[in-house]
Amino acid sequence: MLYQRSSRLFAEASLVIPGGVNSPVRAFKGVGGTPIFVKEAKGPYLFDEDGNRYIDYINSWGPMILGHAYDPVVNAVIEKAKKGTSFGTPTALETEIAALAVSMVPNIDKIRFVNSGTEACMSAVRLARGFTNREKIIKFAGCYHGHSDSFLIQAGSGAATFGVPNSPGVTQGTAKDTLLATYNDLQNVKDLFEANKGEIAAIIIEPVAGNMGCIPPAKGFLQALRELCDANGTLLIFDEVMTGFRLAKGGAQQLFGIKADIVAFGKVIGGGLPVGAFAARNEIMDYLAPVGPVYQAGTLSGNPLAMAAGFEMLKALNSDNAIFTRLEEKTAYLESGIRKILEANNIAHTINRTGSMISVHFDANPVTNLKTAANGDNESFKKFFHGLLSEGVYIAPSAYETWFITDALSYEDLDFTLNAIEKVAVTL
Ligand SMILES: *Cc1c(COP(=O)(O)O)cnc(C)c1O
Repeated sequence: MLYQRSSRLFAEASLVIPGGVNSPVRAFKGVGGTPIFVKEAKGPYLFDEDGNRYIDYINSWGPMILGHAYDPVVNAVIEKAKKGTSFGTPTALETEIAALAVSMVPNIDKIRFVNSGTEACMSAVRLARGFTNREKIIKFAGCYHGHSDSFLIQAGSGAATFGVPNSPGVTQGTAKDTLLATYNDLQNVKDLFEANKGEIAAIIIEPVAGNMGCIPPAKGFLQALRELCDANGTLLIFDEVMTGFRLAKGGAQQLFGIKADIVAFGKVIGGGLPVGAFAARNEIMDYLAPVGPVYQAGTLSGNPLAMAAGFEMLKALNSDNAIFTRLEEKTAYLESGIRKILEANNIAHTINRTGSMISVHFDANPVTNLKTAANGDNESFKKFFHGLLSEGVYIAPSAYETWFITDALSYEDLDFTLNAIEKVAVTL
C-alpha cells in the first residue's frame, strides 16, 4: 500500500501540532511508522488520503458501534445544525436523551451530560468526594479514566504505550490522594482500606478493563469490591466510558449484575460527537450544583448536535436487543478464528474477550493486570500491526488497546480479516 499523502500530511501536521496528533494514541509511536490520515469512513470501513481501504477495528476507540456515518445519526446532526448549534440554555432534547439513558441503565435516577469521558470521570470523583466528605480514591494500575490529574498515575492506554507511569505536571499533593491497586487483586484493595481507614471516598474501576488490552474482571472481583465499599462507606464508581451501551444496554452493571454508585459514560453515548456523562441515584446526583454544593459546569455541555447524535445512537441500541447478541457472536467468531490461526502457527498468545471487546496478547500466560499485559512480545505485535495494516485491516497501533467490534461488520468482512491474519501469522 502507498502512504505518500498520509506521510506528507503527518510531516505538515507535526510542524503545527505536537507530535502531529491531537491525542497521543493516534501516533504510531508504539509500532513505528507514521499514522494514516483518514479522508472518510462508512460502515465498517476507513478510507485514507492515499485511497486505501481498511476494515476498522478501532471505530473511533469505541463510539461507532453501529459503523461509521450511521445514517440516522448523520441525518439528525444535519437537521439540528440548521436550527443553531449552541444556545447556552436548556433544550427539550436534553431531557429526552437523559430519560432514555436513565431507562436503559440500571441503578441511576439522574444523569448529567458533559463533553468527554475525561470530564465524566473527573466530575464523578469530585461528586464522590463531596458526597462522602473524604479525599482519597483507589484506582487500578492500567485503568484509564481520562487525562485529569488524579488519574494520570499508571494510567494504561497511551501512558502505558509510551512508558509514562506518572505524568509530569501532576502535583504530589494530587498524586498522594490516588491510591494505586492491582487489577483483579482483592487482597491488595483490602490492604489499602486497612491502611486508610475512613479516608477512601471511592473506588473507580473499568468493570472490564480496556486500556491495557482487554482484561475481564476475575469471577467475583466486582462483587467483592461492592461489598468492601458497602462495609467502608465508600462509593463504587464504574467507569463505563468503554463498556457503557456496548456490553449490554445497561453496560457492565447489567452484564455482571453489580450495582455501582456512580457511573461514567463517554464514547458510544455520543454517537461519535464529543459527549460524556455521569449518573447516579437521586441522593448522590442532588449533591450537584445548582441543587447541591458540588460544582460542575460546561458551556457546551448538552450541546444540541451532540445530543442529537447521542439520542439517535441510544434509540437504535434501545430498539433492538439483538444488536448486542450479534456483536457478541461476531466477536466470538473472530476470536475463535484468530485462536485457530495462532495455534496452527505456534505463536504464543492469549486472547481476552468480553462481549464485543477483544484483544490479542502475544504471550502464553494469562493476562489479568497491567504487569501481565506488559509481558507481551512487542516485536511480534509491531509486525502483526503493520502486516494487517498493509492487508487493509486497521487495529489500534498499540499492544495496550482493545479492538472494538462494530455491528456494521459482515461475516465477509470478518473472513477478510481472518484471511489477512493468516497471511501475517506466517511472518511472525
Ligand atoms: C476513553 C476513556 C476515557 C476518556 O474519555 P475521553 O472522551 O477520551 O476523555 C475514560 N475512561 C475510559 C475507560 C476510556 O476508555
